[in-house]
Amino acid sequence: MSMPMETITDFDLQRTGFYWREIDGVRALICAPLEDDGFTNGFSTRLGGVSPMPQAALNLAGFNEDAAENILENRRRFLKLFGGEWALGGCWQMHGIDIRVIRDAEEARPAEGARGETIYCDAVVSNAARVLAGVKTADCVPILIGDPKTSSFAAVHAGWRGTYAGIGLYALERLTREYNAQPKDCRIAIGPAAAACCYEVGSEVIDGFKERFQDSDNLFKPTREGYARVDLLKANRDQLLSAGVVAERIHTAPLCTMSRTDLFFSYRREKQVHGKVGRLMAVIGRTQEGGNGVPFPPLYPFTP
Ligand SMILES: [Zn+2]
Repeated sequence: MSMPMETITDFDLQRTGFYWREIDGVRALICAPLEDDGFTNGFSTRLGGVSPMPQAALNLAGFNEDAAENILENRRRFLKLFGGEWALGGCWQMHGIDIRVIRDAEEARPAEGARGETIYCDAVVSNAARVLAGVKTADCVPILIGDPKTSSFAAVHAGWRGTYAGIGLYALERLTREYNAQPKDCRIAIGPAAAACCYEVGSEVIDGFKERFQDSDNLFKPTREGYARVDLLKANRDQLLSAGVVAERIHTAPLCTMSRTDLFFSYRREKQVHGKVGRLMAVIGRTQEGGNGVPFPPLYPFTP
């Protein structure tokens, strides 16, 4: 991240392939090239919700830390950004490499009476129309993958453990196995997460990554003895490139969740202070028009 986080402009966003969409105070970051390839997509912010986290927060998960009616109302508001009916399919995230495949909208809906997710995994893949594959984050890296040739798509949750384990690679491999998607055709958006400007880790992570990443020196900036700041976004990007994804088709949002708690929830910044933290959501899907869904609603320019 070369630009100061506090001064990200709409131009900076546009340059990296993103723009804000906002309806009734609910705002999300959209990856324009992914949308142009036919994929409805969005990374939520904390703005425009009803949760006391600390107020008017768009908390989209974490039923043990917020009232179910707040979370469900926030989800309803968030989904309004994407127009029409969507079945939101997520999972109970484990920092592992398991993947959920959703065959149709009916399968995406949560079990009757379930408060949270009941399927344990860290990536959701599908090729069904009107299914939104979603992952929850608060500092971890959300990755959205869409293949315009096969209309298949994936939402991936990659914290340091998932990155170390290669969850992005497992998601790509699953897209290939299930739908014959080829990495070179995939368009990928890496969303707001704890970035290299802020995310300090200890020797456990540093040593693990040294085994796993050839280029690991470029992922760390030493801070104090035994600690360094890690660039998890680059680590995930490097993994995807190694699998054959084209560099020009990977778009990384220039926003750090730890630097911008005015926009995002940050586990590391807020959990200790407030005892709880809201959850962001990253979603991807496609409409019934197949691989060329019409973007909806039109672009709403927004300047913070
Ligand atoms: Zn930061």
